[in-house]
This record gives sequence, structure tokens and C-alpha cells, in this order.
Amino acid sequence: MVDNIKLKCDKCSRNLSGRNNSIVFFCLSCSRGCDISGKTRTCYDLKFAIPEKEQDFPMEYFPFWHIKCDFIVENTSDVSRLEGEDDFYIPAFFIKNINYFGDIGLYYLQKEIKPQYGEKLDIPVFPADRGLGDALNYPYIYLMKEYSKKIEVEFLNIEVKSRETGLVMVPFYKKDHSYYDSFLFWKYPSGALI
Ligand SMILES: [Zn+2]
Repeated sequence: MVDNIKLKCDKCSRNLSGRNNSIVFFCLSCSRGCDISGKTRTCYDLKFAIPEKEQDFPMEYFPFWHIKCDFIVENTSDVSRLEGEDDFYIPAFFIKNINYFGDIGLYYLQKEIKPQYGEKLDIPVFPADRGLGDALNYPYIYLMKEYSKKIEVEFLNIEVKSRETGLVMVPFYKKDHSYYDSFLFWKYPSGALI
């Protein structure tokens, strides 16, 4: 059980908000997110994804882990290798049906998301029940999936090193019992998420 008394913002000392099962709690006053899953809590100034076109529907922020990674992909059958770096976006929440959102982070890789600091947490936040520790497994999984498609070989060796981690709030639109993300406009029935 979470000791609510201690859940104060490390920066401004106001109460953090979240739900019973939350792993990340948010300070609405100074736009900060604190992951309480580790032995010591880790807090981040939140970054915000700014959609190019705003839609006229109620919005809600969905939190994503933003992990900047350096990686090496080795084709062990012909000993070729390539080095790269990328920004990964991994949902900071678990979902009931993995068919939804399973790959959204992968598709965000190809989008110009340009997260920035300094916005206000002035719309509701979807509860974040996935800590960074779990999210850190995903760049490897994404890369393996992506390069298995690109390089038709059975033997891939992938090394991933995370360089920088943070939390990005992505606006989603709520319409007719569904959520739509603001970059891909994919539709997610709300029942599949909660
Ligand atoms: Zn605060």
C-alpha cells in the first residue's frame, strides 16, 4: 500500500496525484512526474508532446516513457553491423488488451514528436502504472522486431544502451467512448485500456 502522506512533490512539496495502482505520480503544480517503483523515487520535469493540429474534443494526457538510446545491430551471419540512435516512446501504463498500444511507441519513432518542457498539467492524466524499469526492456524488443523485418536473417544481435530517460505527456482526444492519440489518430476503445 502506498503511503500517501509521503507522496509530496520533491520540488514544491505539494501533494502528488495518482490512483491506487499508480507507479508514477504527478505534480499538477510544477509539472513533475515521480516514479516510485524503485528503492528511491525518481522524479522528472515532464516534457509535453505538441500535436501539429489540435482537435476540438476533450483532451487527456497519456504518459509515455521517453528513452534515448544508442544501439548496435549485428548481423551475425555475415558479420555486418550498424550503429544508431533513436528516441523510444513506451506507454507508462499497462493495458488490458495488448493489441492496442502494443506498437504505438514504435510508430511514434517515425513521427516528429519534439517533446518540450514548460507546459502545464491542466487536463486529466491517464494513470501511469508502468515504471521505467519495465519500460527499459522495450527498446530492445522494438529494435529486434524492426530489424528482423528489414534484415532477413535469423541471427541478429542487438545491444542497447539508454542515454537519457524522461516522461512525455502525449495529448489524446476523447470521443464516443474511445480515445484517439494526437499523432497517429488511432482509435482505442476506452474499455480496452482501463
Ligand atoms: Zn511540484
